[in-house]
Amino acid sequence: MNPAVKAELFRLLPSVDELMRSEPLQTLIAREGRSITLDSARIALLELRNAIAASALDEGQLRNALDDLSAAIERQIEQSLARSLRAVINATGVILHTNLGRAPLSHEALEHVFEVSKGYSNLESDLATGERSKRDIHVDRLFAKLLSSGERDVSTIVVNNNAAAVLLGLNALSEGGEVLVSRGELVEIGGSFRIPDVMNKSGATLREVGTTNRTRLADYENAINDRTRLLLRVHRSNFQIVGFTEQPSLDELVALGRKCRLPVMEDLGSGALYDLREVGIEGEPMIAESLAAGVDLVTYSGDKLLGGPQAGMISGKRDLVAQIRSNPMFRALRVDKMIYAALEATLLAYLREDYDQLPALRMMHLGEEGLDHRARKLADQVREACPESKIEVVESRSIIGGGSAPGATLPSRAVAIHSGRMNAETSLQELRHWETPIVARIEGNRVLLDLRTVEPAQDKVIAAALMRIFA
Ligand SMILES: *Cc1c(COP(=O)(O)O)cnc(C)c1O
Repeated sequence: MNPAVKAELFRLLPSVDELMRSEPLQTLIAREGRSITLDSARIALLELRNAIAASALDEGQLRNALDDLSAAIERQIEQSLARSLRAVINATGVILHTNLGRAPLSHEALEHVFEVSKGYSNLESDLATGERSKRDIHVDRLFAKLLSSGERDVSTIVVNNNAAAVLLGLNALSEGGEVLVSRGELVEIGGSFRIPDVMNKSGATLREVGTTNRTRLADYENAINDRTRLLLRVHRSNFQIVGFTEQPSLDELVALGRKCRLPVMEDLGSGALYDLREVGIEGEPMIAESLAAGVDLVTYSGDKLLGGPQAGMISGKRDLVAQIRSNPMFRALRVDKMIYAALEATLLAYLREDYDQLPALRMMHLGEEGLDHRARKLADQVREACPESKIEVVESRSIIGGGSAPGATLPSRAVAIHSGRMNAETSLQELRHWETPIVARIEGNRVLLDLRTVEPAQDKVIAAALMRIFA
């Protein structure tokens, strides 16, 4: 397009001031506010300017676009004011899906968060004496009930997440010294948590012992010197080492720690309060078992198997926990009242043994029969409306996810859809664009919706979506 024509088109554009004075925009200003309307008007004008510069509009098209300008600005306002963080339906079958926010919170936890956060609370105030107190006490007493036994008196502090708990533990106990870790435990957890990197930032020096597949107690013993501060064990949350392997037992490591007067800390990753063997999953360590074995300190997440909010706990011997608590880093990593409220309500469910209160545990407990029934009902409902698609109920395997129980699966049921018109990728995308986005997975060339991670009340939302998308 020649420059003279372009210049002519640019002249047709109103100024921002003119636009803002126009009647339709005055209405928008009154309704949505001046600032967001101005911002959106600028964006809409810039788009037109760019289109002219790129010779993408002739005069007729530009005039049409100008007629539509206030509507375009209104759409822009809507887009700017829409919430980015949204609720989705998880039909992947992965219970602790890190990208989907890990553990859903219980009703009780949400109610407690609402109650405590909508106004003031006794977060750090002792109502009996009127004195200042510590925010830790609200959950420390519950962790103590759940984890102490007999002689064992367990104390717990809470920080932002398990990564922070490991960082803080290492810094408080080992800064300037060495920490021994088996080479087979130098793990990376998704989202760039790597033990060597965290160690480095904590100011402790990593001393690797043993080999990738075999580490013996003697490897630890031989590496101990006068700079050694801590023996660290890290749970292999998201992978397994099989075949020719060896690892000292926790008891042996604890005995070595005692002998050499070195604390033993274990990063449990998920750390279970509930025994997963109840649902047929082996090998996921229980927090209480590690403490019973004599480990001085354990660290674990709040939003993995615990089924609560994002948080990281350090539980263990009272004197060591107190030492860690007095480290200035604790102040920087502490959590707020909403997390304490959610955590307190979550722990109370454990104390009552009301495991079904916690969505993640409830989902693990769902039986195949009930899932099969729901899947059949859903498939039957949708099939008739979608004659061009193949809709069946198939066996599926749900996984725990969130770096827990690697390799373990729970038998589940899924609704499988093979569209006659769209490929599986497009189908998946359509589901994600639904009013309440639905996240599913592809197997072969079909879309699979695993119902274990779907709240039963959401089945009808899925049915409505399928009938529209695949009709
Ligand atoms: C998940 C995990 C972490 C990180 O926990 P966040 O709560 O996500 O910070 C650290 N170590 C292990 C072994 C884990 O499994």
